[in-house]
Amino acid sequence: MDSGKSENNSENEIVPVSIRGYEDNFTIDMIIQKIMDDDTQYDLSKIISAYNFAKKAHEGQKRSSGQPYITHPLAVAYITLELKMDTDAICSALLHDVIEDTDTTFEDLRRNFGLDIALIVDSVSKMKKMNDMTKSEQQAEAIVKILTATSRDIRVIIVKLADRLHNMRTLKYCSPEKQKRIAYETKNVYSPIARRLGMNELKDQFEDLSFFYISPSSYLEIEERLNNDMKERNAFIEKTKNDIEKYLDTTRHYAEKPLVQGRVKSIFGIWNKIYKKHKNFEEIYDRYALRIIVNTREECFIAMSDIIKDYPAISSRSKDYINNPKSNGYQSIHLTVLSEEGVPFEVQIRTWEMHRVAEYGLAAHWKYKLSMNDSKGEKDLSWISRIIDSCEASDDPEEIISIINMELSPDNISIITPKAKRIMLPIGATPIDFAYKIHTEVGHKAIQAKVNNRLVPLSSELHHDDICEIITSKDINKGPSRDWLNIAKTNYALSKIRIWFRDERREENIKEGRTRLEIEFRKNGINIPESKYTEFFGKDLRRHNCETLEDFYASVGYGGIQLVNIIPRLKDKYEKMYADSTDRKIPAPVVVSGDSVKDGVILDNVNGINYKCALCCNPLPGDDIVGYITRGYGLSVHTTKCTNYVSAVRRNIPEELERWIKVQWNAEKPVQLHTSFEVIAIDRVGLVHDITELLYDARIPIVHSSSRALKNGNALFESTIIISNIEQLKRLFDKIRKISGVISVERSAT
Ligand code: MN
Repeated sequence: MDSGKSENNSENEIVPVSIRGYEDNFTIDMIIQKIMDDDTQYDLSKIISAYNFAKKAHEGQKRSSGQPYITHPLAVAYITLELKMDTDAICSALLHDVIEDTDTTFEDLRRNFGLDIALIVDSVSKMKKMNDMTKSEQQAEAIVKILTATSRDIRVIIVKLADRLHNMRTLKYCSPEKQKRIAYETKNVYSPIARRLGMNELKDQFEDLSFFYISPSSYLEIEERLNNDMKERNAFIEKTKNDIEKYLDTTRHYAEKPLVQGRVKSIFGIWNKIYKKHKNFEEIYDRYALRIIVNTREECFIAMSDIIKDYPAISSRSKDYINNPKSNGYQSIHLTVLSEEGVPFEVQIRTWEMHRVAEYGLAAHWKYKLSMNDSKGEKDLSWISRIIDSCEASDDPEEIISIINMELSPDNISIITPKAKRIMLPIGATPIDFAYKIHTEVGHKAIQAKVNNRLVPLSSELHHDDICEIITSKDINKGPSRDWLNIAKTNYALSKIRIWFRDERREENIKEGRTRLEIEFRKNGINIPESKYTEFFGKDLRRHNCETLEDFYASVGYGGIQLVNIIPRLKDKYEKMYADSTDRKIPAPVVVSGDSVKDGVILDNVNGINYKCALCCNPLPGDDIVGYITRGYGLSVHTTKCTNYVSAVRRNIPEELERWIKVQWNAEKPVQLHTSFEVIAIDRVGLVHDITELLYDARIPIVHSSSRALKNGNALFESTIIISNIEQLKRLFDKIRKISGVISVERSAT
């Protein structure tokens, strides 16, 4: 829907990018022209008389922009036409404000244009005036109000959404207070409804426009970032698009040439990922995105396998919404693959029909539904009456809010119990999730599931609107099976299963936990006899709420403690406690870098000995250093400030001191050492980019880097780099300190 944009851009105007250069100059001729161009069946004379009626009624009224009021109903009618709605909807759009803003009555409309149009206009008028849309209770109330007005005729919401879109596009003429209020209302009420109706095109515009008025600075920052690599991005998309088009054509797998399109993610979409999922700008793969449109469902899967043959897939990121559609009807295959240049990009594969539904949602099969009056249409909209019914039945605002949130999320599916109750679950949920949601005991005792009256394994995926029945065991001792932990998708079911194992199977858990720990320790080169575990874990046991080692095993066994999460820290601890100590049983040397390191050190009196840089203090050329003769490995090099050295000096035990020897850096030969540092900064978009860019500019190789948000609103950036000397590092740190928002930069253990 980009019509309405004109070519004469007023470039310096600060407005959202989607309406830059947008001109509010719709006329009835443009509407007639579009109807003629599209060659669709409309009752032109009815549309023109609705226009004349509205024009007369609004005579003398002006918009905040100063234009005659009729330009607004015309713009709304144009959007409604773009959504391919019928004659009555377009007439209703032209007339949508006459009851509210003029002397016209419901009866006038009914007499002139019939009951349908009168009812639509009347319902649209009743949706006005909402209060503070930053409060979820009021949002819920507003949503219920809108859906109630809509439930009689779905065209009501479509005219209302078109009305809102035009108001958003012309929001710059309103006062700042009104801008904020309307923007919040759009974001919190209209945008979720558009999303639920599958009207993604509209939803994206709502999100971008309201984002602009709610947080203009964030909006402009993302836009600037996008502009920075726009050339590069466009070139990449163009090239990859051509490559894929040619490639798919040569396979001869398709009845007709598939269409490949480049796709731009919305500004709000990018910001949302950075902010909610704490991703770096660079990590947002679908900044680069392509869409392949084919004729049949079968061809979608052929295209998927063709693509994977030529471009390596990042498997964890593919999703099949064709076999498992979202509840708003959205279907597509999503996968992320790597380009020849190693750039990850997203590919969406769908048919033309799926494409129409993805863009226009409910509006896409509106006509079809009108003529067929089929049950599919009713099913599509049953969620509306479910929201209204359950809100009438409940007085608890929190319950109402949670029902609305559930029903409005297209990532949830709704499963029906044999007693015709609906249970909301996330996409991908299994009968196990369903069983636990019904009742914990039904979960524990589940043995089989029937979906739409057919027996299926408990691990199968449920689909929207499936009727599911759980068959339970009569055995009172029956409990869940351990592999359910790999099958269940909801945290709710997972925690119930874990709790059962924790409470019912302590011995089994201890055994399981001990085995798993042993395997992980072996895999990670942690080599300690079990008799020393308690000593090794020390305070860590308490930290995980365990009194004894057995408690710890038991926790690992039932899954309360996830080893993958704690092994890196234990490994670190192990290396600090043992690798440099006098315990000869633990060699596990970590060579800091290649052979060249060796050339960087002159050892007084000791030649040809193995050595490494100690992990506790990570010495760098330029630091004052000492060496420690270990019994297991050879020499480990520490800084003279290292607490291990300082405390040895303080203890002053001759036999111990003998093993500390003087070493120094060989200044003549250049070295390349790994060193790590951490940056704490106020969290903001673009932080990671700024730091890494600085490293690139200084030509400092990055071995590893990661970042995460801290609970206090700050961000932690950690990185391991290759550096030649302490001076270079100091210079780098000085530069990092100057980056906006940076609080501290420090060297850290590897
Ligand atoms: Mn209006």
